[in-house]
Amino acid sequence: MPRYDKLLKGGHVIDPANGINGKMDVGIAGRSIAAVAEDIPAESANRVIDVSGWYVTPGLVDMHAHSFGFSGAMFPDEMCLPYGVTTMVDCGGPGWRTFDDFNRNVVQKANVRVFGFLNIVGAGMVGDAEQVVADMDAELTAECISGRGDVLVGVKVAHFLGPGWESVDRGVEAARLSGTFCLIDQNAKPTRPFSEMLLEHMNPGDGVTHCYGYGKPMIGNDGKVKPHYIEARNRGIKFDVGHGNNSFSFSMAVPALEQGFPPDTISTDMHRMSMSTSRATMTEVMSKFLAMGMPIEDVVARSTVAPAEWIRRPDIGTLTPGAPADVAVLELVDRPAGLSDSGPLGYRIMKAPHRLNCQLTIKDGNVLWDYDGSSKDDWSETPKTDLDIP
Ligand SMILES: [Zn+2]
Repeated sequence: MPRYDKLLKGGHVIDPANGINGKMDVGIAGRSIAAVAEDIPAESANRVIDVSGWYVTPGLVDMHAHSFGFSGAMFPDEMCLPYGVTTMVDCGGPGWRTFDDFNRNVVQKANVRVFGFLNIVGAGMVGDAEQVVADMDAELTAECISGRGDVLVGVKVAHFLGPGWESVDRGVEAARLSGTFCLIDQNAKPTRPFSEMLLEHMNPGDGVTHCYGYGKPMIGNDGKVKPHYIEARNRGIKFDVGHGNNSFSFSMAVPALEQGFPPDTISTDMHRMSMSTSRATMTEVMSKFLAMGMPIEDVVARSTVAPAEWIRRPDIGTLTPGAPADVAVLELVDRPAGLSDSGPLGYRIMKAPHRLNCQLTIKDGNVLWDYDGSSKDDWSETPKTDLDIP
């Protein structure tokens, strides 16, 4: 009698949460991971999927993408499933005034597991709303997060152009009141220097996204990681990639990695523009870190278990038996690749010998993306039916 509904056979499993990096089979029963072991018999499964030659990882977790509010927002399934992402966090699209709309029209309708950062601005990430200090209410934001902890994982502060600290301080306060954390995308100004923000205005567990962008340059004129970044990391501030359309430059990331300053989490900041201009898809952003020399198990860890732990959802981002059966099967395609960055100084490429392509995306045990049809039968096995219908 089969014990598994699906068996991923012959792949190279990378599950950093469990220290697994080697040839293993993965058995799925219903909506859950049932077993990760060597040589699970094919007879024990209803459907065997041959994944030999490919990497098998937990479903990817994209900490920073846009499905609501922002004019470039995309529906989660379209921007996530082709790239192995089974969980995404909408990064500040809704505010407390628009949460219900986000929940009803995005979270409830998507096959992808969608969480959200609530914007400190009540109206969310629409037009010039993020400039309206009067709509940045820490108490109401925290109340909304506390009431919907099933969906909301933290606070987002972004794009504020004013001279003061209102957006940062109120966002950090909302995170404190709700027992979550604040993710910040705000460029420095002489009146509110980045060093002061990292060291005095943020709390341990809070984070900065777009960490290799020119808007908040991590590397100084001397080519070195600025000391306040190192000090901030030492006090528990985290750094997220948030690649996007204007926010990831190899000229920042390469020296940072060489000097031992990798990101805590790899994410896309995916939306309609970043997807096409700089190919900020999850597999492509991961490929860029591979190309810069990061070992694949580190790339996978920063794209699965690290974001899952940061958003306090330790049940995802892992292949632990009993966990939701969220799986990505990734092929390292051996063909010269040109991988694009993005930023105010233009788009440039890094040449690489290969890139990752997503072969299969499985969410809660269901195959939702299958690039080469490896979970399907050959067409010649189409059953006979009565075709002579009037
Ligand atoms: Zn963003």
